[in-house]
Amino acid sequence: MAADPRKLHRFHGGLVLDGHKAESLARPLREASLPPRLYLPLKQHIGDQNLPLVEVGNRVLKGDVIAASASLICAPVHAPTSGIVRAIEPHPVAHPSGQADLCIVVDVDGEDAAAPAEPVDIAKFEPAELIEKICRAGIVGLGGAAFPTSPKLSRARAHRVETLIINGVECEPYITCDDILMRNRADEMLRGVGYLQQILAPGTTLIAIEDNKPEAIAAIARALAAASLPQTEIVTVPTIYPAGGEKQLIQILTGREIPHGQLAFDIGLLCHNVGTCVAIARAFEHGEPLLSRIVTISGDNVAAPANFEARLGTPIAHLIELAGGYLDADSVHLVMGGPMMGFSLASDAVPIVKASNCILAMRDETIPRALGPHDECIRCGKCTEVCPASLLPQQLYWHTRARSFERTREYHLFDCIECGCCSAVCPSRIPLVQYYRAAKSEIRAAEHAQYRSDRARARFEFRERRLALKQQHEEERRRQKREALKRKREGDAAAAPAPDPVQAALERVKARKQRATQDELS
Ligand code: SF4
Ligand code: SF4
Repeated sequence: MAADPRKLHRFHGGLVLDGHKAESLARPLREASLPPRLYLPLKQHIGDQNLPLVEVGNRVLKGDVIAASASLICAPVHAPTSGIVRAIEPHPVAHPSGQADLCIVVDVDGEDAAAPAEPVDIAKFEPAELIEKICRAGIVGLGGAAFPTSPKLSRARAHRVETLIINGVECEPYITCDDILMRNRADEMLRGVGYLQQILAPGTTLIAIEDNKPEAIAAIARALAAASLPQTEIVTVPTIYPAGGEKQLIQILTGREIPHGQLAFDIGLLCHNVGTCVAIARAFEHGEPLLSRIVTISGDNVAAPANFEARLGTPIAHLIELAGGYLDADSVHLVMGGPMMGFSLASDAVPIVKASNCILAMRDETIPRALGPHDECIRCGKCTEVCPASLLPQQLYWHTRARSFERTREYHLFDCIECGCCSAVCPSRIPLVQYYRAAKSEIRAAEHAQYRSDRARARFEFRERRLALKQQHEEERRRQKREALKRKREGDAAAAPAPDPVQAALERVKARKQRATQDELS
């Protein structure tokens, strides 16, 4: 099927960047060998923390659930292969903070023995049940954001999804995992799209692919011609960064902007990454949870850039070795993600997680590290010209520097998609996006602290009220008891017989005599 002639729209700003895609696409997709040990962070998604379901010494099989949570915004973690749980301990993970996090460490036994799988006969299940199965498979958005797929689908179903958008744009330099997935797994990807269509019943499905991926477009077009997907089109979009951002892609395809404070499904749209569609197809057809993902290993400091299907938990060092090793081991700057939106990693001991679409091994001097020395803003306005979110990056910069966080909100800091366009064009080399990330983290931390303190205060006040009520209740009970006793005594007194007057007179005489005798003795 030829590319669709659909009318496309433009978003504000953006940049045309050197793609650096050819380096990793020069080699075929390879399955990475199993490393001796896997490090599986308990939390590999946006949302709530999982708890470990295994203990040190347990044997796990490929596909066993090893960490989960009862929360709605979560995705369980499964053992990517068989082995023995060696430890549950802090280990360096892929996070901008560089801090360690709790990981389940599995000594791989090399057998790759799998737990019994349960493929899903989708004709037998309601959409809500299929979403539950996606949840149990631990599937998250594989475009890099790692938001759990099931709550996204549930919320979208509560609205009417007019247009389902399958995102194969992959606009950031160096990253080619989606491109190679579409070239190699077009049929499987479209079957995943079909399952999403069954769940969501969208009016139209648009598969968006950038025009710098002709092989992927051809592969999907061939597969689509053989598939029977209703109202499904391939749309070729121009190569401009960040066309793959959800808001930007929606604008390109529909001309619509997501209003501030709303999400795509609020206006009848839903985006899913191509890798997520493959993960859904595998979960339904093979009963296979999310155990691996395709990762691009590239950069100017790795000998043989390539894409690998790697088990989750594989240390980056293992993949770098498979890609021929570092060209200059003394000058390594590792980045997870691309050069625009990625973040630096402290070491190659960090494991691959569900969000790891790309690992860049750069020479230290190629990518500037986070906040460092730079020149002052010269108010040239270039950052504003390129901002795809139509923000005012210069003002955001001043307010983040001045820590005027209320003002950053007025300038819609949280609409910033951290694309890095502003930093890339700034003649003063100000790492603007790093300032915004730092400010967002600080604001979120303050909000979280405020939330915790509000909850603690509410708990304290509730306890105080409960104790006061209890005391009131006790006092009332004692008062009622006293009154009951009093009434009883009064009742007893009223019921007693009247005294005998003769006997009373005798008693009085007797008492007088006793007093007289005592007086004489004294
Ligand atoms: S591009 Fe840099 S120097 Fe120019 S206005 Fe923006 S922050 Fe200032
Ligand atoms: S990083 Fe944020 S402020 Fe800078 S160009 Fe991108 S969206 Fe705009």
